[in-house]
Amino acid sequence: MSMEGKKESLNFIEQIVENDLETKKHESVYTRFPPEPNGYLHIGHGKSICLNFGLKEKYHGKTNLRFDDTNPVREDIEYMNSILEDVKWLGFEYDKLLYASDYFDQLYKWAVKLIKAGKAYVDIQTSEEISLQRTNPTINGIESPYRNTSVEENLRLFEEMRLGMHDEGAMVLRAKIDMNSPNMHMRDPIMYRIIKRSHDRTGDKWCIYPMYDYAHGQSDYLEGITHSICTLEFEVHRPLYDWFLDQVYEAGKTHPRQIEFARLNLTYTVMSKRKLLELVTNNIVNGWDDPRMPTISGLRRRGYTPESIRNFAEKIGVAKRENFIDLGLLEYCIREDLNKKANRVMAVLDPLKVVITNFSVNENELLEAQNNPEDIDAGTRQITFSNTIYIERDDFMENPSNKYFRLAPGQEVRLRYAYFIKCNEIIKDENENILELHCTYDPESKGGKSPDGRKIKGTIHWVDAKNYCEAEIRIYDRLFTKENPDDLIEGETYIDYINPNSLKIINAKVEPYLKNKNIGDKFQFERKGYFCIDKDSTAQKLVFNQTVTLKDSWAKISQKE
Ligand code: ATP
Ligand code: MG
Repeated sequence: MSMEGKKESLNFIEQIVENDLETKKHESVYTRFPPEPNGYLHIGHGKSICLNFGLKEKYHGKTNLRFDDTNPVREDIEYMNSILEDVKWLGFEYDKLLYASDYFDQLYKWAVKLIKAGKAYVDIQTSEEISLQRTNPTINGIESPYRNTSVEENLRLFEEMRLGMHDEGAMVLRAKIDMNSPNMHMRDPIMYRIIKRSHDRTGDKWCIYPMYDYAHGQSDYLEGITHSICTLEFEVHRPLYDWFLDQVYEAGKTHPRQIEFARLNLTYTVMSKRKLLELVTNNIVNGWDDPRMPTISGLRRRGYTPESIRNFAEKIGVAKRENFIDLGLLEYCIREDLNKKANRVMAVLDPLKVVITNFSVNENELLEAQNNPEDIDAGTRQITFSNTIYIERDDFMENPSNKYFRLAPGQEVRLRYAYFIKCNEIIKDENENILELHCTYDPESKGGKSPDGRKIKGTIHWVDAKNYCEAEIRIYDRLFTKENPDDLIEGETYIDYINPNSLKIINAKVEPYLKNKNIGDKFQFERKGYFCIDKDSTAQKLVFNQTVTLKDSWAKISQKE
């Protein structure tokens, strides 16, 4: 995949941008990321952030963060704060922090201008009537009886709307465009509706609020945005975006261009904010930052790094057609990053006690362990060894097959960083459950090195049973059992495909080295995967989230292709 020496290929949006810079259509690139603060950001937003801020970085341009706060019913300060935190955490800096609500005065003035030009009118019908009159794209629409009301009457009614003299739903302001357009969005779209709710930023100043289609392009224009990047479903809105701009555009100013790309869909998850909110409010997950959620905050808590997410966004590229990205690719990206960064430690997730019968009872030996073979600078640490240790229950087999190279009766195995041990005796309870193993160690095999050239194939991890820490480990599986939980037959809902086993909690024994680490610190538990310290940890109890296993499903998939 190395692109060294070659000019890397550009995605179609970069091609547009480079062309606009070369032809001097724009001096520089100016993008924006425009979240509606009605939920936490998810990995799809992450993709959009990387795309918009990526253009800023690549072409030395600018990017605004603009809250699209045009609907006071759904929006919340908590969401705004989480969005700010997530953008920052991803490593991006916005040039301006803006709010669509800052433009309410200007948007209102422009609406009045449209009315005066005979291009907007107040419609006193219900939304059902309006929508029925739009009919369908194959036949002409039906004009509203209010379409040709005089300018004076429209100005008076719009003013009354603004003053709060009418009830919600009583009337709307519509653009007068074309009731026969094959594009339904052009059939006199709604510009303003009455919402009698106070707004976090404008308080009770307004009881009319602009629709997304009207507010968005005008906001882009006010900010001097050159490329307004959005997802594919807005492609059919583009003529309307341009129509609204054309009504106010002044020569010499930047005319923003809307460009659509395919939204990110990930397998085994849902990405709609409405559904994510449902998962939270119905306690199907434990909050927006539950590590099973595809939210940025969930991924962060799970142990994902900003670099892994940025790298993922880079790898999936920018598509013009909807597609599904394999969750395995996201996992591949974090595995690749943590392989370089995460220190290795030993943790036993399903402990079986082993007594080393020829190791002195009171002795406590210090051994040296490497922190990260991928990173020499990570150094080493000391671990203790005694006559009692824990190993994984499945690293022992009473009746092993020929190919089983771990511990078995009479069979030797290497303990990582320690010694060779050999199993001599199995201690069981009255129900034949294995309680512990009695083994002997070879004192000549210190550091796991063979003293006489004899070959030991299996190496297992372990934890000193006289010097360890208890830890709660949260093991995660995919949140849904279906690749696309939105692909349903009648009568089903995406909730039917929630994976009942997406969270498993186990109690493990881990190296005491982990005791004084910080929330968010990430480790590789040797042979087990990557784990990170959760915010639920206390002085008494360490809690870890499993980030990802060591098994790479992605490399296999991509080789097959
Ligand atoms: P909704 O509009 O239903 O509340 P949304 O996901 O579109 O949900 P916004 O806050 O409007 O939420 O999105 C902010 C930006 O992120 C928009 O530019 C949008 O196009 C982009 N975006 C949203 N979801 C995805 C996705 N899955 N992949 C890529 N970009 C996305
Ligand atoms: Mg949206």
